[in-house]
Amino acid sequence: MDITVLFNLSYGLYVIGARDDHNTPVGCIVNTVFQITNEPNRVAVSVNYDNYTASCIQNLNEFTVSILTEQTDPAVIGTFGFHSSRDVDKYANTSYQLIDNNLPVLTEHTAGWLRCKVENKVDVGTHILFIAEVIETGQGSGETPMTYDYYHKVIKGTAPKTAPTYRAPQTAPVDSETWVCGVCGYEYTGDFAALPEDWVCPICKKPKSVFHKA
Ligand code: FE
Repeated sequence: MDITVLFNLSYGLYVIGARDDHNTPVGCIVNTVFQITNEPNRVAVSVNYDNYTASCIQNLNEFTVSILTEQTDPAVIGTFGFHSSRDVDKYANTSYQLIDNNLPVLTEHTAGWLRCKVENKVDVGTHILFIAEVIETGQGSGETPMTYDYYHKVIKGTAPKTAPTYRAPQTAPVDSETWVCGVCGYEYTGDFAALPEDWVCPICKKPKSVFHKA
């Protein structure tokens, strides 16, 4: 079977928000939010069990979806996609507001947000599929929603290992000008040696030392 055909499925990029037992806002990036029915407005969201956010949603039975746009700061994707809410306050350097039920939604460079009430949970192995009714919405910035394809082609990011679409890196073609972040896959093209020593990956904020030549 040629699994590369699956790479042609289209996705967006979203921050799923919830809160933990201490009322601390938590969140993670997903690329799988689908509207599955119209009446009522119902969505399905697939979240990896390894994500702290997944366990918080299971306790809370509510979550938010912030729809990222092409203008979303790559650092937001790095923070929410490549770190864990167990270790990091992902909202510390991110503009957000708390809506009803103390749930966080992003307030900059989002194409709107949804508040969702979980109706069903389906165990799909590595991931849990939440089926949820949309009970509140908020408008966003009017910017173009970011597709997963745009993220790959323009921002050149890779999927975190917890994403359903994650695929292990292949041997990259040799290009002496391109350096690849070993954590998030961000590609830097240019004079890497000339970058200051305290330069960090714009996606995952890791230091130069995690980069390797492509
Ligand atoms: Fe990185």
